[in-house]
Order: sequence, then structure tokens, then C-alpha cells
Amino acid sequence: MKEFDYLIIGGGCAGLSLAYELEINGKLKNKTLAIIEPRKEYKRDKTWSFWKVFDHNFEDCVIKSWNNFTINSSENSQELVNKKFPYQSINSEKFYKKINSKLSSNPNINFFKNLNEINSKNSIIFNSVFEAELDKSELWQHFQGIEIETTKDIFDDEILNLMDFNCDQRNDVHFFYTLPFSKNKALIETTWLSNLEDQSLMDYDLQLENYIKNNLGIKNYKINFIEKGAIPLFYPTFKNNKKNINIGSAGGMTRLSTGYTFLNIQEHSKYIARNIDKIEKVKTFNLGKKYQFLDKVFLKVLEKYPEKMPKVFSNMFKTSSNTIIKFLSNKSNIFEDVVIISKMPKLIFLRALFD
Ligand SMILES: Cc1cc2nc3c(=O)[nH]c(=O)nc-3n(C[C@H](O)[C@H](O)[C@H](O)COP(=O)(O)OP(=O)(O)OC[C@H]3O[C@@H](n4cnc5c(N)ncnc54)[C@H](O)[C@@H]3O)c2cc1C
Repeated sequence: MKEFDYLIIGGGCAGLSLAYELEINGKLKNKTLAIIEPRKEYKRDKTWSFWKVFDHNFEDCVIKSWNNFTINSSENSQELVNKKFPYQSINSEKFYKKINSKLSSNPNINFFKNLNEINSKNSIIFNSVFEAELDKSELWQHFQGIEIETTKDIFDDEILNLMDFNCDQRNDVHFFYTLPFSKNKALIETTWLSNLEDQSLMDYDLQLENYIKNNLGIKNYKINFIEKGAIPLFYPTFKNNKKNINIGSAGGMTRLSTGYTFLNIQEHSKYIARNIDKIEKVKTFNLGKKYQFLDKVFLKVLEKYPEKMPKVFSNMFKTSSNTIIKFLSNKSNIFEDVVIISKMPKLIFLRALFD
């Protein structure tokens, strides 16, 4: 069976981002790479959004960028403006097409459907597949989004709505998220922060239908695209060792307090490509111990006091847009961290700290 220098398990966001980064940096001229991916075809399955806090390779896959966003609670609506770090959405179909077309020009890169088709004994492995079934009783961000198109111009496409808490919370944390791609097209998502055991929260179709009708006042629309997902808000156990490096969500690239993963995957891919020749010696990339600690406390509070979260989130955004964006994108300095921490209700956070 054929052997390869590098092996990527899972040709999704992380696997393909890494392969692309290696390819464009000339790291696969004299090395071979196998990508194991079982899917039959690549199509639009996700919309990846994030604040662009650094340049990435996929500007040509961006559906839209915004400089303004709102947070709505039952008490108020806040609008934040930021020209420095736009919020961007990427169409996964364009992303897959761009990368696969680039990779196909290098004969050193081969795709396989199954790991047992190759000999992986001597390869350096980058693994984006969770090693075990994840615990449904832990905290997850689960959601469904639909891209709707209306006949009339309805949306203000200059402003996205990051969180709208004007909805039924059902003893968990629930909000809607609206990305207006144009005046008559928007992705609307119902998002829950809860365990995955409670099936009653998963009547997403009905939640979206009611929100679009009652909150947005839209009666006539067609649905162009549906996306559904569940992001674990806990870190799985990693088997990272010198020759086996976990990447993507399975490699701890999700920011636990937000679910944002895409840009962290890009940063991790750049780190690996930069260090590929000595990858067995460099230290394991992570999002920063500081954020791991702060997010752990934050999620403890969220699990214990879900009813307080609309206010907690709303207060977090009562600061300069640079500060909150940098904090949520793991780019804040100590002064910015202190500003964010000072917005949190002290007593319950202290209690969570010592629980
Ligand atoms: C619907 C959705 C929307 C999201 N939106 C955002 C967002 O807006 N912003 C953000 O930052 N993050 C977002 N995320 C989170 C995160 O960015 C994505 O989940 C991202 O795709 C993670 O990349 P990944 O490579 O770890 O996983 P995936 O992209 O899921 O890739 C894993 C790959 O492994 C393959 N695979 C599965 N089993 C095997 C096997 N046994 N052997 C080999 N391959 C296998 C799969 O087919 C898949 O292609 C979203 C997640 C989902 C599900």
C-alpha cells in the first residue's frame, strides 16, 4: 500500500485549509500528502462567519462584509460600528471549489475515501475527526439557519443582528441571528446553548417560522438554503503527539464561549505550514490559556444561570467595538480583558470560580 509524508484525516474546513496553506507555501513540492474524506461531493453546507481580525486566504469566497452590528434584548437594542474589523461570511461551496481546484494541480496530493486504502504507519498525521462519540449531556451550541429570499426589499443589508434575545428561552439560552446578504436575502438562525439531550428545543423549523413572521414581520418568502449544526462547547480528549496532531474542532480550535472556529483554523493552518519541517519539535498550538480559563468560568455561569445570560451578553457589548471584537476573536490585551471582565456580574462569576 502507498505511503505518504503527510496525512490529513477529514477534508472539511480544517483539513482543506491546511492542505491549501501547505500548497500555496510550496511545502508540497517534494512531499506527498493524502487526504481522507468520505463525502461523495462538495456542496454548500455551511456559512462561516467571523470578525476579520487578520488577513485570510478566502477573501474571494466572502458573501458579504459588514461594519455594523446590533445586539437585541427585551430591554434595548445596541448598535456597534467597527471599520477596522469587518464581520464576514464565507460560502462553503466557494471555499471547497477554490481549494480543490488548487490542490488538483499538484500530483503529490491524493484523495482517498477510507484510511485503510493507504499505509499510514510512517506519516505525520493531521486529524480533524473526533476520536470518540461526544457527550450529549455537555453544553453545545446547536442551531438551524435558513437563507430566505423575499419578493420585496425588506432588510437593511448594512447591519447584521448578532443576537436577538427577544424569543422564548425555555430555561436555556436562546437567540436569533440574522445576516442580511442583500435587501431581499438573509440567513436567519435560531441558536441554543444547551445540552443535546432535550429534543424539545429542536423544533427549529417552527421557531424560525414564528420569528420570521412575528418578529421580522415577513409573510412571503422562499427558502434557498438550510444549514444545521451542533458545535461542542467543551474540548474533546486529544491524542496529540509528535506524529499525530489534531486540527479543526477536534483539535480544540473552537472558542468555547462563542463557537467561533473558522479563523482559528486559519491561524492554526498557517502555524503548521510555517513549522512543517520541524513540526515534531514545536509546541502544540492553542487558543491561549487565558481564554480557556475565562471561557470555562463564563460557561459555568451560563449553565447555572441561563436566565441571566441575555443581560450578561448585552452588557459585554457595552464597550468599544474594538475591545469586544478583539476579546471574542482571541486578540485582546490585558487591559481589554479587564474591561470585559468588569462588565460581568461579579458575585455569580466569583461563585463560579470557586465552585
Ligand atoms: C452548520 C455550521 C455552521 C458553522 N458556522 C460557523 C461560523 O459561522 N463561524 C465559525 O467560526 N464557525 C462555524 N462553525 C464551526 C466550525 O467552523 C465548523 O464546524 C468547521 O467546519 C469545523 O471544521 P473541521 O474541519 O473541524 O470540521 P468539518 O468541516 O466538519 O470537517 C470534518 C471532515 O471530516 C470528514 N469525516 C467524517 N468522518 C470521517 C472519517 N471517519 N474519516 C475521514 N474523514 C471523516 C467529514 O466528512 C468532514 O468533511 C459552524 C459549524 C457548523 C456545523
